[in-house]
Amino acid sequence: MAGEAQSDCLFCKIVAGDVPATVVRETETTVAFRDINPQAPTHVLVIPKVHYPDAASLAAAEPKIAADVLREAGEVAAEEKADSYRIVFNTGTGAGQTVFHAHAHVLGGRGLQWPPG
Ligand code: IMP
Repeated sequence: MAGEAQSDCLFCKIVAGDVPATVVRETETTVAFRDINPQAPTHVLVIPKVHYPDAASLAAAEPKIAADVLREAGEVAAEEKADSYRIVFNTGTGAGQTVFHAHAHVLGGRGLQWPPG
């Protein structure tokens, strides 16, 4: 069923507590944890607890939870005192997506170039 945990999904395992993560925030619908391979002083992933493969499919099925992810991204940036930051949703392998469970990258703590690579 849509949104159900997938046994082969790394981020579903983090939600379940079966894979350890450095969790910085948790709500009823989201978990935020530090990226294992940080690309900036602040690099936190915010994920919905429900499983959707990318941000657009999450927003189509669960718009309130998609909004929760965005709000939590802002809360993470505030807690990290990142007044300038970037929220990134890589979507598709060509854009660098490697984990097919919707997630927002929150990047900050250094200058960020535009356009991104
Ligand atoms: P994507 O490439 O946009 O799909 O982002 C996936 C992110 O997950 C990458 O930045 C990885 O470094 C990160 N990642 C992979 N495994 C783990 C983990 O076990 N804990 C935390 N972050 C992870």
